[in-house]
Amino acid sequence: MGQRDTEKASIKTSGRISGKYPETSHEISKSPSTGHPEATEEIFVNKISVRNLVEFILRSGDITTSGSGLRDTEAMQEGTRIHQKLQRRMGSRYQAEVSLSSEFFIAADSEDRIHISNTNFSESADVPPQKKKEMQKSLRFRILLEGRADGIFSDGTGMVIDEIKSVYKDIFSMKEPVPVHLAQALCYAYLYAKQKQLQEIGVRMTYCHIPTEKVRYFTEHRTLKELERWFYRLLREYAKWCVWQLRWKEARNSSVKKLRFPFSYRPGQEDLVKSVYVSISRKKRLYIEAPTGVGKTISTVFPAVKSIGEELTEKIFYLTAKTVTRTVAEETFSILEKKKTFLKYVTITAKEKICILEKPACNPESCERAKGHFDRINDAMYDLLTHENHISRECIID
Ligand code: SF4
Repeated sequence: MGQRDTEKASIKTSGRISGKYPETSHEISKSPSTGHPEATEEIFVNKISVRNLVEFILRSGDITTSGSGLRDTEAMQEGTRIHQKLQRRMGSRYQAEVSLSSEFFIAADSEDRIHISNTNFSESADVPPQKKKEMQKSLRFRILLEGRADGIFSDGTGMVIDEIKSVYKDIFSMKEPVPVHLAQALCYAYLYAKQKQLQEIGVRMTYCHIPTEKVRYFTEHRTLKELERWFYRLLREYAKWCVWQLRWKEARNSSVKKLRFPFSYRPGQEDLVKSVYVSISRKKRLYIEAPTGVGKTISTVFPAVKSIGEELTEKIFYLTAKTVTRTVAEETFSILEKKKTFLKYVTITAKEKICILEKPACNPESCERAKGHFDRINDAMYDLLTHENHISRECIID
């Protein structure tokens, strides 16, 4: 349908939409944003659990075809039962499920060198005044790390952190704990030793074989200094992602604020744009019936992007049923990009269509990409995020 036909057609929206929308045709704004993340000490707090931290930074290994969902659920229930049984068996002096947390102050200078401190840089007596001045110019934020140790007990010589894992594999053929499991225990050990000012602490990994309930222990001792060195390396690696995300978000939001609707409005189109924006700001659903050619894609994508700039939302999912409408959506994002808007957009492709094999067989024996996938994924993702804006099948295949 051409522009003439469109003019005659009405755009119907369901539900009553009301709310503030700037009267000028190209402006979409809301109350002032929280401000530049570098503007104040109390800036951004990134809360993460110990488990998520280690599983994100230290993930490794191959993609393997997983078992059925039923088996996974059963394993989880069985794991929880055994886990609690082991905790009870340890007696009343064993503290189970101990909450631990700590806050870390991060500063990233203009060259993205990352500094970590246990205390606020501006209040720390260890930071010289000149350094404090330099820090004022840095990107600063906090990371709040939280978790629950499975158990803490005294072995008669000192305190020990216990991390319990229930597994189906043969625990007696294991040479050492799984690195990511041990890392979780080391994080708890560091948080606890720091909190209690312990110069040394025991770390015990307890593996329980689910079918037989047999148990195997791996125990080691670490000094607070060793733990701190190891932990700061881990946290620095995570902070790198936070720094990228904060800088990107700031650049993206400020570019989106400058974005104007890229065409002259067609009849009815401005109302549609406003309706979409108001619906997002009020967290409402909006059903639209509009004929072909009215410009539905840009009329929905534009206000959705603007709402990201106003921090009303973080992500947009644009779902289409056909390749042709997917292409229109990609072109629309590309138009906004050409207007100097910083956007990252991903076209999700079915596994069968992106697979390098004739038929997916996601295991290290059949596919070179499955082998060591988790060893490479973080570097690959960081590279993609820092070099590509449109992440598509083409750049993944390359
Ligand atoms: S390339 Fe194919 S087989 Fe290999 S991991 Fe990807 S989807 Fe699985």
